[in-house]
Amino acid sequence: MRIGIDLGGTKIEAVAIDDDGVVRVRRRVPSPRDDYGRTLTAVIDLVREIERDAGTRGTIGVGIPGTISPATGLVKNANSTWLNGRPLADDLPRLLERPVRFANDANCFALSEAVDGAAADADVVFGVIIGTGTGGGVVVHRRIVEGANSIAGEWGHNPMPAPRDGEWPGPPCYCGRTGCIETFLSGPAIARDYQASGGAAITAREIAQRARDGEPLASIVLARYEERLARALASIINVFDPGVIVLGGGVSNIERLYDSVPALWAPHVFSDTVTTRLVRAAHGDSSGVRGAAWLWD
Ligand SMILES: [Zn+2]
Repeated sequence: MRIGIDLGGTKIEAVAIDDDGVVRVRRRVPSPRDDYGRTLTAVIDLVREIERDAGTRGTIGVGIPGTISPATGLVKNANSTWLNGRPLADDLPRLLERPVRFANDANCFALSEAVDGAAADADVVFGVIIGTGTGGGVVVHRRIVEGANSIAGEWGHNPMPAPRDGEWPGPPCYCGRTGCIETFLSGPAIARDYQASGGAAITAREIAQRARDGEPLASIVLARYEERLARALASIINVFDPGVIVLGGGVSNIERLYDSVPALWAPHVFSDTVTTRLVRAAHGDSSGVRGAAWLWD
């Protein structure tokens, strides 16, 4: 039995999957925000419950926001900031009395989709989660590319490529820089753009609905978003040329992206043809936690 844990900012999810990739048990609890100690307790309780119900022990993989720093062994880059600087990679193996594998949540998402999801036929996969942030993960031949600094795939804190008027220096980002891709492409960024353009304070989901209903402002904001997403993904295609780019997170529910964005990225890709496909995640919100389980192959 493989147990996967997804340590999210709002919820902690756990699944147990069998050798065929079938989810046998699923549990969800709210994340104890701003409390590292209670986060540890919540994970341990989830594992104990699953193993008690299943009557067996499992391997454990954990998807985390951010990553474990190879330099310090501590969590870094997590937007769930109460995890940053914490010795999660020491505490969980000790408390669970077994080795535990960790990976960035977007890497887990990409792995899940590459193993048995929407990118299962591709050798090189870029997984993107666009919601409150813009995570990314690279999987090659069904293995996560971690990278020397454990940040492979973190495209969201590069500057927006080929910035247009008004895009540079761009909005401030929580990482301390300005004009990061994330400040243009996250779900909240769509809402900000709509509001700054004279629209109401509504969510990206509502803006997408208004665009479907034919509202001109919503359509303009979404078109601007699609062009930016195309530019940002083209720079990824130029670097490692994935066969499939898989989208997850709230923004992945905007159906028109899958046709509109590939139609816009060609001018920014250094190639006469672009066969890279942009597809929606097959496992939806469960991809992260499935990928965490697949960290033990
Ligand atoms: Zn940033």
